[in-house]
Amino acid sequence: MATSDQSEQLAPGQTVMIPSRSGRAFTMKKGQRLTVIDPRGEQVSDLLAFNTHDLDEVISSGRTLDYASRIYLTKGDPLYSNRSNVMLRIIEDSVGRHDFLLTPCSKDTFRIIYGDKEPHHGCFGNLSTALMPYGISSDRIPVAFNCFMNVAIDGTTGQLCVDPPKSKAGDHITFEAEMDLTMALTACSALQSNGGSFKPIHYRIDD
Ligand SMILES: [Zn+2]
Repeated sequence: MATSDQSEQLAPGQTVMIPSRSGRAFTMKKGQRLTVIDPRGEQVSDLLAFNTHDLDEVISSGRTLDYASRIYLTKGDPLYSNRSNVMLRIIEDSVGRHDFLLTPCSKDTFRIIYGDKEPHHGCFGNLSTALMPYGISSDRIPVAFNCFMNVAIDGTTGQLCVDPPKSKAGDHITFEAEMDLTMALTACSALQSNGGSFKPIHYRIDD
């Protein structure tokens, strides 16, 4: 187990720890697999993906949910870009409940929803900082794929309820890259999303 600088490249198979309430960015080659692991259970990880060769192509919640005609995605489902190309495909999933509706938690999330006077910078701040060395500014950050986030929907009213994740210690989700990608991942900073406590996230890239 090793920690990593935000810009460090990983050896295949090396497991990296993202400390609680922080984030990391890294690149992946087409065909590589990313496994996101919840080591202690009930911890969300926001995932972003950009086309390494053209950073204007970015993961799209709208395209993906439209084409899936479903809001809960799992094994076999593709994640599309804003240009309707498949960026990633979910190839393993030991949890079966993730969210692709809600935007990364941020200073404003904590100010508006939690009423915090000195709000934490949240996943949004962590994603911004991690992606800066790759030339990606904060205004380009879209809705993230929220690994392990458990958002229940009332089918009649559309009311959203952020419940504790269903993930148990050691649960994982694995994605295969369908293009060269610049990625970012967090250990989410919002109390409600994470069952009331902040834990680390682990990830691994395999060839
Ligand atoms: Zn978050």
